[in-house]
Amino acid sequence: MPFRPNTGKTDMKRRQFLSLAPAAGLAALPAGIAPAAGHGGAPALHEAQRRSVGDITVTALSDGGISLGHAPLQGISEEDYAAILRAGFHDPAGYTSGVNAFLVETGALKVLVDAGTGGFFGPEVDNLPANLAATGVAPGDITHVFATHLHPDHVGGALRDGAAVFPAAELVVHEADRAFWGDEGRFADGPEMMQAFAGLSQAVLAAYGDRLRVFDAETEIAPGLTALPLPGHTPGHSGLMIASGNDALLIWADIVHVAPVQLARPEVTIGFDVDPAQAAASRAAILDRVAAERLLVAGSHIPFPGLVHIAADGSGYRAVPAAFDYAAN
Ligand SMILES: [Zn+2]
Repeated sequence: MPFRPNTGKTDMKRRQFLSLAPAAGLAALPAGIAPAAGHGGAPALHEAQRRSVGDITVTALSDGGISLGHAPLQGISEEDYAAILRAGFHDPAGYTSGVNAFLVETGALKVLVDAGTGGFFGPEVDNLPANLAATGVAPGDITHVFATHLHPDHVGGALRDGAAVFPAAELVVHEADRAFWGDEGRFADGPEMMQAFAGLSQAVLAAYGDRLRVFDAETEIAPGLTALPLPGHTPGHSGLMIASGNDALLIWADIVHVAPVQLARPEVTIGFDVDPAQAAASRAAILDRVAAERLLVAGSHIPFPGLVHIAADGSGYRAVPAAFDYAAN
């Protein structure tokens, strides 16, 4: 089998979450505060799954899993949260979100969409390097790292011991995220966790130096690969639309963090959203679009491999897992 399901559960460290949460309700805690230790701290043998999109190959790569619980969600009672998860045959006490990255191969290009945590949240969620290696792709082969945004679970793995992990890659990111997280003064008096997030962002931006490439609107960054701004979670939060022939796939990044809940109730936001109202508006708009267009979606935090179709369901939506692509694996 090309992937091993993450069967790990974790003790919900909600007390820990609450004790560390900033009093202002600003959610500055890393999602990985409750890593799912499904691998006992060891890298998975191989958690990668390929998908063909026309002439482009997309490989979902697992970095691990995290349990967020109800605490960081805004706009839903704990009872409703539990009921939605139980209805989807999930354990409300231990629902595990994925931390997924995606390797996109087209022609001579190897584009890594997000780079995992790099161990920022502990060793249990740092499996991307091993899973990338298992595909036969070396860090030096990566031509671009497309950062959907500059949160540590997306760019932490672009840096190791202060150096760029991908020595030949351009780092591609929305200008609004570069400006926000790269502003050294903005977080000086802010919550410790925001300072940590910003500090990591700035180190990543510095490590890629003149290999940084920014965009500020919907932009084709390579043939068939179009950056699609979906702001709110962070100012420059962006998806990547992949299109080839008659096929298309949207990597929508952090449109949902607890998928069953935020699909059923798209108005539910998460404390990590920089602008929750804008994040909810972006979510509503893209859900409407992908459901209407029957577009295949890949999510950063949808349980691995994170590939789903989205169907309208009552006042919300539900995910229908994409069938395994036998031809591509
Ligand atoms: Zn994320």
